[in-house]
Amino acid sequence: MKILVINAGSSSLKYQLIDMDTHDVLAKGLCERIGIEGSNLQHTNVAKDEKTKIEKPMKDHGDAIQMVIDALVDSEIGVIASMDEIGAVGHRVVHGAEEFADSCMITEAVMKALEKCTPLAPLHNPPNIIGIEACKKIMPNVPMVGVFDTAFHQTMPPKAFMYALPYEYYENDGIRKYGFHGTSHKYVSQKAAEFLGKDASELKIVTCHLGNGSSISAVDGGKCVDTSMGFTPLDGVPMGTRTGSMDPAVVTYLIDQKGMSAKEVDSLMNKQSGVQGVSGVSSDFRDLSAASKDGNERATLALDMFTYQVKKLIGAYAAAMGGIDAVVFTAGVGENDAATRAKIVDGLDFMGIKIDPAKNAVRGTVDISADGAAVKTLVIPTNEELMIAIDTKRLVEGN
Ligand code: AMP
Repeated sequence: MKILVINAGSSSLKYQLIDMDTHDVLAKGLCERIGIEGSNLQHTNVAKDEKTKIEKPMKDHGDAIQMVIDALVDSEIGVIASMDEIGAVGHRVVHGAEEFADSCMITEAVMKALEKCTPLAPLHNPPNIIGIEACKKIMPNVPMVGVFDTAFHQTMPPKAFMYALPYEYYENDGIRKYGFHGTSHKYVSQKAAEFLGKDASELKIVTCHLGNGSSISAVDGGKCVDTSMGFTPLDGVPMGTRTGSMDPAVVTYLIDQKGMSAKEVDSLMNKQSGVQGVSGVSSDFRDLSAASKDGNERATLALDMFTYQVKKLIGAYAAAMGGIDAVVFTAGVGENDAATRAKIVDGLDFMGIKIDPAKNAVRGTVDISADGAAVKTLVIPTNEELMIAIDTKRLVEGN
């Protein structure tokens, strides 16, 4: 079966066509500037390693999906003879709230439930829904599956996901911790179990998805029991431009004492803060590392703040699970930044976490633990598209 994975944003749409017999990506690409002047499709035929850029107006996501299909079946740049070869479509959806504890086949009832989740993700869910609608119009007979960033975290117990606000704020408004990056945490925790030759049910794992956005999860027996992002992706460790956790009274202080509007505070916390805000250098960890090496003290401080908070969460989640068998690093920073990994685990030998510097320098899926370390430290490249395709196939096959 070939599965088309779609990740629709407000003015962009990413796609991959995956052969589920081999897990090979046949084609992938990106539509940019949908509904804006300068729309274009960047398509890669993976087997031929050929990239094509097509500039053509796309007034909406329907036009974008049609261009993707046209590229996939094109006699020169395409990878399939006709649309009939697409067995199913898997859609990334950011927020599934408490409605969706697993991926699910898209039905009319599901579309209604998705609309209900929109107030919780007003920027992200609407384009996801528009992407699904557009695909349904163009491929009415192809089964579609929704895969949610929040679903993997729905196994958290109430003591982990509740906020200590009056209970009615949870009951009436759904204010609680949801967690994000769930597809990535699920994928790398499953891969870690596979890599270690164990059943996920036997393992206590802390997964560290460290990228431009970062989140840490505690995965006990294959199920998420806690995670660092919260009601929104702003919570947890400091990120590229997001604050991460801080005393919530800072928000009321900024509004009351500095005269900022809620919108301004929201923008400050999401877009101007994090390692970028602290360092004044960049949100990009490569730039920060370079500045730190050049003696920039605020870049060093930003990196120290990041690694300290990740380290603390590894300890906290080991305590929450009553033990730890493995730490997994993934995403842009987690997969590529050996120095940051080393700083995070530095000093954790008391709990059995120790890495080998030579192994830490290797790229790919690797066990970087020092010989004899009681806890395995692994680097596992994430693959959210493949996880979406795997879930899509499972649901289409009725499992
Ligand atoms: P992601 O959000 O997963 O795409 O990750 C993006 C982040 O990964 C950016 O901050 C990049 O600077 C960081 N990153 C990517 N490659 C490297 C690298 N080789 N060394 C350090 N950071 C990296």
